[in-house]
Amino acid sequence: MMVSIGEVLIDFIAVEEGNLKNVKAFEKHPGGAPANVAVGLSRLGVDSALVSKVGDDPFGDFLLERLHDEGVKTFVARDPERHTGIVFVQLIGARPEFILYDGVAYFNMGGEDFPDDVLESAELVHFGSVLFAREPSRSALFEALRDLKGKVPLSYDVNIRPDLWRGREDEMLGDIERALKLADIVKLGDGELAYLEENGINLEDFDFRLVAITKGAGGSELLSCGSRVHVPAYDVEPLDTTGAGDAFMAALLAGLHYSNLLGNGVLREDDLERLGRFANLIAALSTTQRGAWSVPKIENVALMREFRELHQRSRR
Ligand code: ATP
Repeated sequence: MMVSIGEVLIDFIAVEEGNLKNVKAFEKHPGGAPANVAVGLSRLGVDSALVSKVGDDPFGDFLLERLHDEGVKTFVARDPERHTGIVFVQLIGARPEFILYDGVAYFNMGGEDFPDDVLESAELVHFGSVLFAREPSRSALFEALRDLKGKVPLSYDVNIRPDLWRGREDEMLGDIERALKLADIVKLGDGELAYLEENGINLEDFDFRLVAITKGAGGSELLSCGSRVHVPAYDVEPLDTTGAGDAFMAALLAGLHYSNLLGNGVLREDDLERLGRFANLIAALSTTQRGAWSVPKIENVALMREFRELHQRSRR
């Protein structure tokens, strides 16, 4: 089972394009990057679980119900004090911008909310940066990751939300660097990569098994042990790119699972190309649906070349 750790929340997505100041109505969607990845994995046929925290409120009930409907196993605590996280999302040219609300349940995760036995027996553990922005979730997540390092492959989506770190950018960069040292698989956007480099953080200084750099309509680049490939994007008309990065992440991890490449074997260029094609395909298809839970189900992609060729590696 692949286990994601982190925020599950309500995305209130503006129903019309434009500045939040002028938007009149919002549609309620389930979201939160690690939850999106957990749902994407489940839709792609991989046994998947989420470790998180929601409030003891109707939004928490809604999210737990939706995760259950999606077949994601939930290790999601209920917070008697804090409400479920919410985000307002504004679409400008199908690109999302966010206002994330503070003081919510997922930032209140403590050591007791991390199920050690589930995490230690996972096929892979996936996490992002949002929980690092506040205590106690920050210390609890770092402690869990340190315990898991070397026992379970760790996957990290850098996913920078500067809004959460205003005036504390140095602290944010320090936490990202600590997380990069723990990660085996890393995914980040090209803008995030440029930002890290401008601030003296270079990926060559770390020891990753796999790095994926996403470039929106420019596709993605995959790097592993000296190999580097660029994989072009699929040509689609995006309706809503919210969660495209998470769809890409889920498909990359599912691709590793289906090609039996999660262990220690070397990832060759042809492996990287197959993984990148599958991840780009799933991410492109996700942009044609609204909301962040927009990964197509495995039965709708099982016959596609990009999925079938993932299995070639295990047969060689
Ligand atoms: P997020 O906005 O979810 O944080 P991100 O910035 O990490 O995502 P992007 O680079 O925007 O992610 O997109 C991830 C992947 O989705 C790309 O690598 C690409 O494969 C696919 N994708 C995104 N936008 C488009 C597009 N306009 N056309 C085709 N594919 C796209």
